[in-house]
Order: sequence, then C-alpha cells, then structure tokens
Amino acid sequence: MAGYDFDLLTIGAGSGGVAGTRRAAGHGAKAAICEEGRVGGTCVLRGCVPKKLLVYGAHFRDAFEDAAGFGWQVGAQDFDWAELIARKDRELDRLNKIYLQMLDDAGVSLLEGRARLVDPHRVEIGGKFVTAETILVATGSWPRLPGIPGIEHVITSNEALDLKELPARMAIVGGGYIAVEFAGIFRRFGVEVVEIIRSDQILRGFDKDMRVSLTEEMKKAGIAIRAEMQLRRIVQKDGHYLLHMARKNGGEETLEVDSVMCATGRTPNTKGLGLEDIGVALEPNGAIRVDDESRSTVSNLYAVGDCTDRLNLTPVAIAEARAFADTLYGKRPRKVDHAGVATAVFSQPPIGTVGYDEDGARAEFGAVDVYFSKFRPMKHTLSGRETKTTMKLVVDRASDRVVGCHMLGDDAPEIIQALAVALKAGARKADFDATMGIHPTAAEEFVTMSAPRPEPKEEN
Ligand code: FAD
Ligand code: NDP
Repeated sequence: MAGYDFDLLTIGAGSGGVAGTRRAAGHGAKAAICEEGRVGGTCVLRGCVPKKLLVYGAHFRDAFEDAAGFGWQVGAQDFDWAELIARKDRELDRLNKIYLQMLDDAGVSLLEGRARLVDPHRVEIGGKFVTAETILVATGSWPRLPGIPGIEHVITSNEALDLKELPARMAIVGGGYIAVEFAGIFRRFGVEVVEIIRSDQILRGFDKDMRVSLTEEMKKAGIAIRAEMQLRRIVQKDGHYLLHMARKNGGEETLEVDSVMCATGRTPNTKGLGLEDIGVALEPNGAIRVDDESRSTVSNLYAVGDCTDRLNLTPVAIAEARAFADTLYGKRPRKVDHAGVATAVFSQPPIGTVGYDEDGARAEFGAVDVYFSKFRPMKHTLSGRETKTTMKLVVDRASDRVVGCHMLGDDAPEIIQALAVALKAGARKADFDATMGIHPTAAEEFVTMSAPRPEPKEEN
C-alpha cells in the first residue's frame, strides 16, 4: 500500500460497507470505514429490521381476531405505540453495538464523520485527510420526494418508524415496496389509510396476479387505494393536511388527512461526495456507474449497494461487497449473479417471489405454462377471515424449467426462499411434481399443481 494510511477505506458503514470491509480485513487488508451517522445503515436502523419488527407488532390485530374462531376469548385489546417504538429502539441500539463490536473484532478502524473525496486516494473526514490505495463507496440511498408545493409537510419511511403518536388518518403516496408495507402496518394499528398511486396498480414489476390479489387483500383490510391519481399540492389547514389530487382521466379531488407519507422511491446517496470532481461517472439519477466487478470509471474506486442502484436489497449489497473483497484481497475473483434474486414484500399477507413474472417469461421464452392456485388457507376455515392465498408457477414449455415462482400468503417469504434454491439449481416442473408434499401445509400446493391454466385469449 506504498505510502497510504490504509489498503482500503470504505465510505458508509451500512450493510454493504460493513460486510465488505470486514471481509477485506479478514483477508489481511489494513482497512478503515467512515460513517457519518450510526453504524448499521439503512437496513438495520431505518429499513428492513425496524420495519419487520413493526410488521410483527401489527400482525397481532389479525391474530387476536382469528383466535375467536378457535375458541379463545381475547379480552379488551390495548395497544401502546410508544411502548413498541421504545422496544424497537432498544433492539436497534443492541444491533448497533453488535456492528461496532464486529468491526472492532475484525481490526477495522472506524472513522466518524462525513467523507468527501479530494482525489482518487484521499478523503477528507471532518477536516482531517486520510489516504487509501483502494476506496469502496457504500453510501446507500435516501428517500426521493416529488417536487410539489407543500412537500415539506410529508414524512418518509425514516420518520414513519419513529412517529411520536399515530395519526387518525394517513395518506401514503406511492405503490412500491415501502408504501405497501407501511400501509399494512399502520392499518393494523388502527390508522385510516389511503394509498395514492399514480398508475393503475400497486407494485410495478411484480407478477400481475400478485398485484391484483394483494390489492384485494389490502382492500379487505380497509386500506383505500386511489389509483391513477397524482398528488399535486399539500396545504396545511388547522393541524390537518388537504391533499389536492388530479385524476388521470381528468378532474380533481381533495382529501383531508392528519399525516402524509411519501414512499416514492429512493435516490443514490452520492451528492456532495466529490465523485464527479475526481472523474467518477454517474448515471443520470446519481448512481455510480460500475462494471460487473463493482469497479467505477476510476480504477481504484469501487462501489456497492444502493449507491449503484442495481438491485436495492440488503443481501445484494452484502454479496456485492463480499465479492469485491474476495476478488481484491482474497485471491478468489468472482462476480455477483444479479439474476433470479428472490425478494419479498412484507405486506399483510406478504408476497414472496423469485424469477420471471408471467409477462416477463412470455417475452423471454415465448411459450410458457402457468400453474395457478388461489384458495382459502385451512386456518381461516375456522377463523372465518376472508383471505386468500395465491400461488403461481411459470414454466418454460420448451425446457420444462420453472422460471418463476410467486406466492401471496402467510409465510410466503419463508417458502419462496427455499424454492429460490430449486430455481437456482435449474429445477424443472417434473422435479416439482416428483417432490412429495408436506401435509397439511400451504406450501405443498407448489408440488401438487397439475394442470396449467388455459392460455390467455389473444387480444385484438
Ligand atoms: P446503507 O445501508 O444505506 O448504508 C449507507 C451508509 O453510508 C449509511 O449508514 C450512511 O449514513 C452512510 N453515508 C452516506 N454518505 C456518507 C458520507 N458521505 N460519509 C460517511 N458516511 C456516509 N431490503 C431488503 O433486502 N429487505 C427488506 O425488507 C428491506 N426493507 C427496507 C425497508 C425500508 C423502509 C427501506 C428504506 C429499505 C429497505 N430495504 C430492504 C433496502 C435495504 O435497506 C437497502 O438495500 C440496504 O440497506 C442497502 O445497503 P447499503 O450498504 O447500500 O447502504
Ligand atoms: P419503489 O421504487 O419500490 O416504488 C416507488 C413508488 O413510488 C412506485 O409505486 C412509483 O410509481 C411511485 N412514484 C415514484 N415517483 C412518484 C411521483 N413523483 N409521484 C407519485 N408516485 C411516484 O420505491 P420504495 O420507495 O417503495 O422503495 C425503495 C426501494 O427499497 C425498493 O425498490 C426496494 O429495492 C427497497 N425496499 C425493499 C424492501 C423489501 O425487500 N421488502 C422493502 C422496502 C424497500 P410507479 O410504479 O408508477 O413508477
């Protein structure tokens, strides 16, 4: 590392940064990591973990209701939001300490403060300069807000996880992962939720049957979805907010709520880092342009995770970072396969999905067979809850390979995680058919679906 303070300096101690730096240190690199906030990043402190804890908390409303169908008399329910938030925060503190300990154990130096690149090997952190042979940028992403009048009144997922108290009425703008997950959470805690989406359907990019079925389930839970509606303006009025919205097919509507949450996507966190000044090429949305080894257009500067806007998921950021470290420091060059990554939406019920959606598979493979099942789960024959589980397999007809696997229903993320292994291994429909089911489960449906759905009629 001729003359540098460190072999590796990582900017950003979130999922990707911490994983890659620890791995590099494990391979013998002298490594440092710089963090302007708390170590842990989005997933641990403002994303996956606190969100999932709130999903668990929200789930009890349905569980109490369902219990009556099994003979339980559940007494008056009293929910304390402040208590849940305090407990969640204690858990995040615990995880933050574990992350700090893990860095310490790996011999990684923690440099606290905001980093700015001065040249390809020199970084300024709070007025001090640090040099490194290699720089890894892992600065994540931040909520992106539409530029409309009154936008200063909105909250994002950052604040939604820390609300002092629950509003009576909330509008959630957006139809992606975050909007759908938080709509489910707040509704179960008794908030009147209206989700405002600009297109005709939630969850663009997901399989069409999952999108339709989740919309049905959200409506059954009392979440109003206002489709093809664009928020134009937010006006504060007597402690409430008046939303002015334009319908796609013409006309305007207003809606009064007590809180407005925007979940309208995220922007790579690359502003003010000095990247362009040292010649790092950025995409139009600010993402760092990288090759399949996560190397930027400056040869000693690499980038992983959300700041590269490839697949913005925690396991992907971690995999990219570890591949970088193994390649550079571990004599184990490898690339991350971004195809066939399973993902879940922690809605209620949740979605688990891996591989192609039906339309994508038709476009890629031509002839496909679709196996589809929508049924009332056994538990709800007694609970009486009107909810349906939806399952779908998409099979490439020519090779018999299962190329898409989708589920909306209890435990879908857990089930799809296991099926993702089968798809990665190239499983055929015949392999699914040859697999014995576990009875009685919902998951057994995946190995017993025998007749493909009739081909859709040609649209004229
Ligand atoms: P981050 O974890 O965001 O880390 C970036 C770090 O860099 C931050 O700590 C930041 O403070 C620091 N930083 C930024 N700029 C500087 C600077 N100039 N100097 C010093 N430090 C800096 N993914 C899933 O897989 N499953 C989920 O269930 C899931 N749920 C989510 C829920 C929410 C509400 C959100 C917002 C995201 C969720 N995600 C989920 C996505 C996941 O959180 C991200 O993909 C993941 O955290 C990205 O990791 P990263 O290392 O790229 O960035
Ligand atoms: P998404 O990209 O998933 O969704 C953004 C939503 O906002 C879309 O419905 C989009 O509509 C809408 N939108 C965008 N701009 C506007 C606008 N100007 N006005 C109105 N609506 C708008 O982003 P999220 O913020 O939900 O999440 C960010 C990312 O974080 C996800 O893509 C995912 O990678 C990650 N994440 C993962 C989770 C998980 O794994 N469970 C959970 C949460 C986040 P349209 O569809 O019409 O473009």
